[in-house]
Amino acid sequence: MTTANAYPVTQTIRTIGILGGGQLGMMLAEAAMPLGYQCVFLEDSADCPASLYGRVFHSDQLEDFIAAADVFTLEFENTPTATVEQLTDLSKSGSKQGMFPPLIALDIAQDRLKEKQMFNSLEIATVPFMAVNSEADLQQACHELGLPIVLKTSRGGYDGKGQFVIRQDSDIKAAWQNLKDAVTGKGSLTPTPAPLIAEGFINFSRELSIIAARAQNGQVRCYDLVENHHHNGILAKTQAPAVGTSHLFKQATDAITKIMNHLDYVGVMALELFVTKDARGHDTLLANEIAPRVHNSGHWSIEGAVTSQFENHIRAVVNLPLGDTDNVHPAIMLNILGQYPDISDVLNIDGAHYHSYHKAERDDRKIAHITLMPNDVADLEPALAKLVATLPNKMGLEKKPSAIDSQPKAADSLITTDNNNDNDNILESIEVHIDDSQTTQAIDAKAKTEKVKK
Ligand code: AMP
Repeated sequence: MTTANAYPVTQTIRTIGILGGGQLGMMLAEAAMPLGYQCVFLEDSADCPASLYGRVFHSDQLEDFIAAADVFTLEFENTPTATVEQLTDLSKSGSKQGMFPPLIALDIAQDRLKEKQMFNSLEIATVPFMAVNSEADLQQACHELGLPIVLKTSRGGYDGKGQFVIRQDSDIKAAWQNLKDAVTGKGSLTPTPAPLIAEGFINFSRELSIIAARAQNGQVRCYDLVENHHHNGILAKTQAPAVGTSHLFKQATDAITKIMNHLDYVGVMALELFVTKDARGHDTLLANEIAPRVHNSGHWSIEGAVTSQFENHIRAVVNLPLGDTDNVHPAIMLNILGQYPDISDVLNIDGAHYHSYHKAERDDRKIAHITLMPNDVADLEPALAKLVATLPNKMGLEKKPSAIDSQPKAADSLITTDNNNDNDNILESIEVHIDDSQTTQAIDAKAKTEKVKK
């Protein structure tokens, strides 16, 4: 019996090999299934979230993983580039159907310095930054950029780890001592030697991100700008769309489109952005980093967009037309960190969508997310308050009853490498610029109409 008719669209691709098997891989597989594709995963943890959806191969079984799949993608950005290179070569030789996104995107996204250099080469604004290879370089950076600065490892850090805020000259030595091993590749910070990056500390008013998908024919489709709030350096909440940002939408879509075209990117990418003021006092965006994969700030799109980021990524990888990225309804997504709430309590809230990652509870671990999308947008704020009340780990959100009134502070998001140093107190005292016109906006039907039509 032939099964060819079960794959009416792209007959040569049946199985997608995904590097990584976490919740992003799980949600990619969920999106792939209705399109007729099966996923397999390369992941060392056999009971990873994605294992519910397809076979998991240990990294020792790379050859079997390769044999099992027709086309490849990734859900984990610290995937070894050597593996991606091998899959790229197999695709170039014609024995496989492709490795997306391209190796160069991964190579750049794994290195903050290369990433910011790329942004600037494309005339996309960033915070001022300098490479740091020695304590003398660090002294020079503090002098040229002016204090405070954020010193970061170029490679290996995530969720704010591997970062140190220097506010006064006397912090320089401690910062260098904390992070210097990254320059030589010794210690636990990163196995690959790379310069540190010193960045001017930006008093941004809001943190936004934009997600876009690029197809194999070069078509780019962008989702709405969304607003992100962090807790201890980890994403806690995403609001989609970000209220009062229509004036920034073109700047954001231009930037991500330029980046994707430059990299000849295929798949979904996220661009993280800070909102700050330009010299004339107008709102403007600074690019912070890209994620060459589906992104936590796009989980709302499963319910809230015409086509989810996961489905669009799969479509791009298997060379199908991209779907509409329009927001269908304003939504708020909360990550569940560490401990599960009572699911009945959550689902008693109208418009709550529960996504468990089937992971064991562990402090600050992302184990689920919940998207709130009540039919009446006026119910969004009350639903958020009810949801926060059900959470064992409230991620500081109970202190901020209004989704809009609470502006993120750089201080909330940055954590330092040394939990006991007194930088935390100094961080608290840094004044953050807040645009009052935005703090007072309420979520209303305008959120839908405000959107710039794509
Ligand atoms: P990153 O690992 O670069 O994404 O940084 C983690 C978080 O630290 C960001 O989401 C921001 O909240 C904050 N942050 C990073 N870089 C800066 C900066 N140059 N100035 C102020 N805050 C920053």
